[in-house]
Amino acid sequence: MVVRMRHNRSQTRQTRSHHALKERALGVCECGAMRVSHRACSQCGRYRGRVVVDHAAKASAKAAKRQKREAAQK
Ligand SMILES: [Zn+2]
Repeated sequence: MVVRMRHNRSQTRQTRSHHALKERALGVCECGAMRVSHRACSQCGRYRGRVVVDHAAKASAKAAKRQKREAAQK
């Protein structure tokens, strides 16, 4: 770093004043779970009343993949 680029304390602190994390906006899903706003529900996979992520199919696919991997190892 060159002297020309050096910040004084005030500039550093002004920059850092914007680094705080904001609390996430949480809502309650129609399934009753807490859900992050503008995201599909992690429990039921719904967004705006419509199922957009099929968690059951994902879980079964993952289980099948795991079984296949374990069978290949033996
Ligand atoms: Zn839900």
